[in-house]
Amino acid sequence: MYLYAIKEANKYLETNLEQLLVAGQENELANQQFAQFLLQLDPDLVDQKVHALNSEIAPKIDCTSCGNCCKTLLININEKEADALSKHLDQTREIFDKNYLEKGMNGTLLINAVPCHFLQENKCTVYDYRFEGCKEFPAMHLPHFNKRLFTTFMHYNRCPIIFNIVEQLKIETQFVMETKNEPL
Ligand code: SF4
Ligand code: SF4
Repeated sequence: MYLYAIKEANKYLETNLEQLLVAGQENELANQQFAQFLLQLDPDLVDQKVHALNSEIAPKIDCTSCGNCCKTLLININEKEADALSKHLDQTREIFDKNYLEKGMNGTLLINAVPCHFLQENKCTVYDYRFEGCKEFPAMHLPHFNKRLFTTFMHYNRCPIIFNIVEQLKIETQFVMETKNEPL
């Protein structure tokens, strides 16, 4: 076994969604190792670094040019949110539920379409009534990053904010990927 350093991060931020998909495949093994590596670090230190990177990176990425979370994720909502939005749209809950919702396992409510019904020209048409999950995503500002590694890496190839934070985090934590020695 020997170690090699990951390549220097690009100085620019990657926002090309096709490139993210390619990188997601190329970096799959590295990301698995990086997740294990992060679990060995002080979780508070990881949070500090992620929050600092989020403050630096997120404002530079224009979500209205992307909209990929609204285009690709199944959105969970709760009864209160459904009540508020149905009222705003002047629909009874019965009509609203028929138009927009389906029941998931354990009775959870989900928006029944991907992309989301309420996305138009990459903008949320019900912004003031959008759901908690929409407000939180990609959750890089929240504590306990190390407890959300599975979902974070699940969205690595989808969300430019996550992608760029993770790539910078690899550099800041001096992560090195382990590879097996290939026989000559
Ligand atoms: S409600 Fe708005 S923010 Fe939430 S997924 Fe739909 S379009 Fe996106
Ligand atoms: S949160 Fe991520 S996936 Fe969603 S619009 Fe912003 S950059 Fe794109």
